[in-house]
Amino acid sequence: MSERPRPPLPPGPWLVVGLARSGVAAARALQARGESVVAVDAGSPAGLPDGLDAHVRCDGLAQLDHARAVVKSPGVPREAAVIAAARSRGIAVLGEIELGWRLLGEHPFVAVTGTNGKTTTVQLLGHIHREAGLPVAVAGNVGDALSGLVGSLAAGTVIVCEVSSFQLEDVIDFAPEGAVLLNVQPDHLDRHGTFEDYVGAKLRMFARQGTDDVAVAPAGLGIEDLGGCARRVRFGSGGDLDDRAGHLWWDDEPLIAHDEIGLRGAHNRANAAAAAAIALARGIDPDAVRAGLRGFAGVEHRLEDVATIDGVLYVNDSKATNVASSLVALASFDAPVHLILGGRGKGQDFTALRDRAHRVYLIGEATPQLQAEVGGVACSTLHDAVGEARAAARDGEVVLLSPACASFDQFTDYEARGRAFKALLR
Ligand code: ADP
Repeated sequence: MSERPRPPLPPGPWLVVGLARSGVAAARALQARGESVVAVDAGSPAGLPDGLDAHVRCDGLAQLDHARAVVKSPGVPREAAVIAAARSRGIAVLGEIELGWRLLGEHPFVAVTGTNGKTTTVQLLGHIHREAGLPVAVAGNVGDALSGLVGSLAAGTVIVCEVSSFQLEDVIDFAPEGAVLLNVQPDHLDRHGTFEDYVGAKLRMFARQGTDDVAVAPAGLGIEDLGGCARRVRFGSGGDLDDRAGHLWWDDEPLIAHDEIGLRGAHNRANAAAAAAIALARGIDPDAVRAGLRGFAGVEHRLEDVATIDGVLYVNDSKATNVASSLVALASFDAPVHLILGGRGKGQDFTALRDRAHRVYLIGEATPQLQAEVGGVACSTLHDAVGEARAAARDGEVVLLSPACASFDQFTDYEARGRAFKALLR
């Protein structure tokens, strides 16, 4: 688990562009080092910290005149005028991941990317490290922004960080000791342009890795050249961390039986295999990995078991905001499923969901489209849908909230929708 020195920061003064969670964390980490920092946001984000020279509803062009280095938040498009101007003037533009990785140079770093399963896998990896008695900090979408960890970790703490393709667009020298690519499916093409650009962004995670590092990717990925010179470890059927005959295997020894893995569904078995592959390749004891895979029950709002009432299992999968996610959720159950679908559509075609559930209950704005493409009982609200499903479901069946839609028509976000579902069952 060797670490190489990471590049120093370029000299300031600094301009931080974008003031959501990671931009604020970056600004504070720089300020804590005594750097001069100005921050801008094109919108008007709430809850900015005191003591930060922040300009809201501001394009940042005037502030750029006084900056020698820029931090770009992942939500800021690379075409933004201030970013384009900085690049054309030769001003260093660092993504928040690049900044955090450089500032946390004494900590081994494991990065996880992929279209789906990042949050689940980083939380599982955190759990495996804790089972092994290793100090670990998990950063990313659920939890702390990476730069927020600066100055707060005990020596030797391993960082496990969820990294999106947007964040990988803005890395320069980023070279994590462990890098995990879970899967790649067409997604976010509105931002990345082509599928090749999207894959290219994900592969930047491997490009600067060295020979002491580990690169984990799916066995059937179809991308031969990951780039970089890390040790390759493939997971899934036919891989180094193999999935066959009802077990995951490592070094030709069975590691764990499928039915001992705490997470539900074949998609989560792939996440478990990826987590096991990086953990084992980095030297974590197989017994700790096994214990971690057995004991980890998953992340809130992702196939989360909520209650069993009169023999009916209620499952909250509110995070499923597209058709693909709802399909993997449905494939995770053998029992008949009463599926609650709907919310705000995102222009997708729902017909793949037709005839996949025992009964379907529809909520929200997407109801007319869902009724035409999938069919089901129109319930309008989540409250009514739960009531209808509850009246219909029999002993041994499942009621699943896996909406395949955004939540914003009726809820502030998918988490509020999931919490509302759970509250209805209490
Ligand atoms: P992310 O952080 O990448 O968005 P999550 O762990 O939050 O991933 O899971 C998001 C959704 O993606 C879940 O609702 C789940 O249904 C689906 N999912 C999780 N892992 C996989 C996978 N390996 N393949 C396909 N879909 C998955």
